[in-house]
Amino acid sequence: MNCKICGAELKKPGELCNNCMNKLLKKQEARNDKTEYYTFKSEFVLGFELLRHIEQICIVIFMIILLLSLDISYWWRYAIIIGCLFSMYGIIYLWYLRAKINSTSCTLYRTKLIYTTGIFKKKSKEIPYDFIEEIFYTQGNMERLFNLGTIVIKKKTRNLLERNMFIDAVRNIDQVFAKIQELMG
Ligand SMILES: [Zn+2]
Repeated sequence: MNCKICGAELKKPGELCNNCMNKLLKKQEARNDKTEYYTFKSEFVLGFELLRHIEQICIVIFMIILLLSLDISYWWRYAIIIGCLFSMYGIIYLWYLRAKINSTSCTLYRTKLIYTTGIFKKKSKEIPYDFIEEIFYTQGNMERLFNLGTIVIKKKTRNLLERNMFIDAVRNIDQVFAKIQELMG
């Protein structure tokens, strides 16, 4: 008799080897796990987002000043129109960003975590702790200024594109991280 999943020779009678059986049980356990322990969220902080987009904002202001300083009587109209358009775009973009950031959260269960994001349609990713290689956090100077940080979840996968998950703009990052460490052991 051989294992039905991996094909290894079975020492004891049955359909699966111990290795595959354990994996299956762990998967099942994670799927049935409904005990919520802790949730943390990304948070929209206006000052931080403005600072994060400071380059684009400076370029727009610079363009408007440039147009105004050309000192040709009709240019100021263009300057005002461009200024209005960019301001409108900026405000709409900030609203979108706010909705997107505020919709992102991560809930820790006993055996897994669930990452949720999406403004209109919620998307969830379930990751059993067994599939996580490491969790840590990063905090750049700009983030430190606003008491924010980024949680990085490194998964056990060879796929480089899927390996790291980032949950940014998390408030009180050191406390959140301490809580995560405490729960995940
Ligand atoms: Zn097996």
